[in-house]
Amino acid sequence: MPIKLHNALSRKKEVFKPLVAGRVGLYTCGPTVYNFAHIGNLRTHLFEDILRRVLKYDGYRVRQVMNITDIDDKIIRDARAAGKSIFEFVKEYETAFFEDLTRLNIQRAWKYPKATEHIPEMIGIIKKLIKNGLAYEVEGSVYFSIRNFKKYGALSRLNARKLKTGDRVDRDEYAKDDVQDFALWKAKHDADEPSWSSPWDEGRPGWHIECSAMSMKYLGKTFDIHGGGVDLIFPHHENEIAQSEGATGKKFANFFLEGEHLLVDGRKMSKSLGNTHTLRDLVAQNHPPLAYRYLVLTAHYRSPLNFTWESLAAAEHSLERLYEFVRELRAAPPQQKKSRNDTSFTGALLRVKKQFAAAISDDLDMPRALAAIWSFVRAYRKNPERFDPHVALKLILDFDRVLGLGFKRIQSTVIPTGIQKLAEEREEYRRQKNWVKADELRDRLLAAGFTVEDAVDGPRVKPR
Ligand SMILES: [Zn+2]
Repeated sequence: MPIKLHNALSRKKEVFKPLVAGRVGLYTCGPTVYNFAHIGNLRTHLFEDILRRVLKYDGYRVRQVMNITDIDDKIIRDARAAGKSIFEFVKEYETAFFEDLTRLNIQRAWKYPKATEHIPEMIGIIKKLIKNGLAYEVEGSVYFSIRNFKKYGALSRLNARKLKTGDRVDRDEYAKDDVQDFALWKAKHDADEPSWSSPWDEGRPGWHIECSAMSMKYLGKTFDIHGGGVDLIFPHHENEIAQSEGATGKKFANFFLEGEHLLVDGRKMSKSLGNTHTLRDLVAQNHPPLAYRYLVLTAHYRSPLNFTWESLAAAEHSLERLYEFVRELRAAPPQQKKSRNDTSFTGALLRVKKQFAAAISDDLDMPRALAAIWSFVRAYRKNPERFDPHVALKLILDFDRVLGLGFKRIQSTVIPTGIQKLAEEREEYRRQKNWVKADELRDRLLAAGFTVEDAVDGPRVKPR
């Protein structure tokens, strides 16, 4: 099924066509390793993980590159405050970042290049920009001249009148109204600042140039998809396009995919509001990391998602119910032959398969994909005798190649018949409203290591 993706360059859903048949070059902006990633950053990386999983599910070979920013204003500031070298300082957060990815079942990219290991490539691009009349030197620093790059602002639809040409901005990150010439190379100011030699003064690269250098080095001058979060559209992605296309004269990325913000209690995350959570904070509150992954899947990547502790608990509950379904399928005996040929059963399987594929191919519509799975779970529960549980399990595990919710790890647990009988006896007492007896049996089940949940279709026994 052809995949449609919303291209931020055209602001339309377009049918995805790769440059080389069967292959996708994907660049995604990575972390600045000066702190733990917050759950908003991780939402972006989860969306990018879904993107690559959907492409792989459709048969593409995906080469994903994600940069690690190990030098920028914030790193220098915080390393200095911690009394550490920048290399020592970033190490801890880099390790923590990969731990977070693992816990969220985010598949590894092909490469994670580091900024400090690609200084010569950045200098090469800056030299080309100067040669092409798009960059100029001032006291050992080099700036990009936005006035000379006609396409500047095309991605973020900046109003040309707002461009303050001739003014320069030195900071790596700046406000939306600072539409000014930005630094490609920054001359060294303080003696204790990390620096590299260059054709200009000794110094360090600006933040934006690293993504141009590392994406093009590994994926070529033009590649298929560039991903990131909406907060990076201006200035970061805009500057990446200007630097890359200004140096090569070729189109940079065919598609730009931008994931929406995560809100916390309806507000933007900020240090001053104290609502910035990390994955570690969620785990400290006893929530499994994959509950957060499930929560992220419940919103389309182009819609804002509101995080609350209640929404996380609800996601955890839904995920647990899906795990329970997988356990049930694993524990079920194979279905009899006659039912397997039941056409309505085949129809239900085909329907969910089609619905799932249609949803993920439509600009990664994961909420719709989840809805298809839930309607299948309901259909199965209604008439389990009509389904072959092993075929259903195969299908669910196949969907998990995209969902990444860890269904493979969920093992069946065989409930001993004696335990099942106790649970049914307890159910009988409940029906008679004999709560004392029912509670007594629940305690016996607990003592034997099982819990019982009262579902509409009868008691559900699980190991503790
Ligand atoms: Zn970037």
